Amino acid sequence: MGDPIRNPEVKYTQIFINNEWHNSISGKTFSTINPCTGEVICQVQEADKADVDNAVKAARAAFHRTAPWRTMDASQRGQLLLKFADLVERDIIYLSSLETLDNGKTFLDSKADIEQSISVLRYYGGWCDKITGKTIPVDGNYFTMTRHEPIGVCGQIIPWNYPMGMLSWKLGPALACGNTIVLKPAEMTPLTALACAALLKEAGFPPGVVNVVPGYGPTAGAAISEHMDVDKVAFTGSTAVGHTIMQAAGKSNLKRVSLELGGKSPLIIFADADLEEAAAVAHLAIMNNHGQNCCAGSRTYVEESVYDKFVALAKDRAEKRVVGDPYDPKTEQGAQINETQFKKILGYCESGKAEGAVLQAGGERKGDKGYFIKPTVFSDVTDDMKIAREEIFGPVQCILKFKDISEVIDRANLTTYGLAAGVITKDIDKAMTIAQSVEAGTVWINCFDMVTSQTPFGGFKQSGQGRELGEDALKEYTEIKTITMRLINKCS
Ligand code: ADP
Repeated sequence: MGDPIRNPEVKYTQIFINNEWHNSISGKTFSTINPCTGEVICQVQEADKADVDNAVKAARAAFHRTAPWRTMDASQRGQLLLKFADLVERDIIYLSSLETLDNGKTFLDSKADIEQSISVLRYYGGWCDKITGKTIPVDGNYFTMTRHEPIGVCGQIIPWNYPMGMLSWKLGPALACGNTIVLKPAEMTPLTALACAALLKEAGFPPGVVNVVPGYGPTAGAAISEHMDVDKVAFTGSTAVGHTIMQAAGKSNLKRVSLELGGKSPLIIFADADLEEAAAVAHLAIMNNHGQNCCAGSRTYVEESVYDKFVALAKDRAEKRVVGDPYDPKTEQGAQINETQFKKILGYCESGKAEGAVLQAGGERKGDKGYFIKPTVFSDVTDDMKIAREEIFGPVQCILKFKDISEVIDRANLTTYGLAAGVITKDIDKAMTIAQSVEAGTVWINCFDMVTSQTPFGGFKQSGQGRELGEDALKEYTEIKTITMRLINKCS
């Protein structure tokens, strides 16, 4: 039990609206590619504006006050989410195998993502009948209460790096609050979202509550963010597209917007740390998910006195990282998502060398087929270099040197991003000073990437707006209604 399926069958390739499968109105399809071979896996129906319109109509009808989804007890919504989580768990081997085929990440990484997705869905399943308002002691002879109501039709545009994770982060809180959804998976990885659509139907979600529209960003994605009848758009992806989404919301109907965008997260290592352990944490902070992680620890700051020793440890780890067949349990790194990203990452490696950083490991492709890149380490990186400023989104560790705490805080904050940060030290004062001074939505002390269902996650500055996960995500999917009643009789 638990062995990967090397050639998982692709069962669903159509657009999912109203619990039914549809071909695209335009008749267009697009290819989804296996990043390990560069070969086409299958054709997927390509949703465009007209298909998005139909999906929005279905979601709007499912949101009508008399529709089954709106008249259902909140606890029943919770049962549906829990049932969906159970079905994802039932199919975890198939879904993980499919994710690996479509995304190129290792089977074990896909499985870990899906385990986290199940946890997220269960967490929000538990919230459904616990989303409460307040009673407020207002001035005068009035009784005032608030209700937290669903916003309405939510567009959700998700990326390719964690297709199932991002699906659960988006669907979980939106459904817990009682919204209806039009979800667009990334064009590189549509297959697991479509498989999940079938599971949502099997779980018993009424038609129109969740609709899935595979397609491209500037067409299907833009149709969602510009739509006059979509009440909210939630987006995870690049900062550049985040700007476009906000503009689209502003130009259309002022729909609510939540954004989880890029990052250039610092990880600060003090000389008092256990260096072996620090090197292990820093390695995974950047190499995890092939570096295709918005909160990757992509700037490793190391205190001067231990810098050379740390660089040697980082180099050793990178050289030992096992890259290759993603279905082999010994493999730690599969292929990057596509040719564009692959070339972009290699371009950053060239820029690092040209700007004077010292290449310690990797810096080139691995093999001659697929989009594999050797785990890369650069030392002697300075803040002004392109590799220290821009999001590479690949397995490229940049190691910078620092002298003291005040200097490293200013340098850590020298970025337009603010998603996450980390510090490794045995000194509690240093740890808490860093935690309170870095401009980031999450700070990890003596660990990295510890994102859980219960903890809010999101960005300061241009890393985003709003929070996902935890109780805070519920705010992104509710409107607060104040109800005030005049009382005839004076009461105390
Ligand atoms: P990345 O750079 O990581 O590929 P993107 O921001 O381009 O991330 O893509 C993330 C998601 O946003 C994908 O689902 C993609 O199709 C979608 N997207 C891309 N461009 C737009 C756009 N102009 N409007 C709406 N969605 C878009």
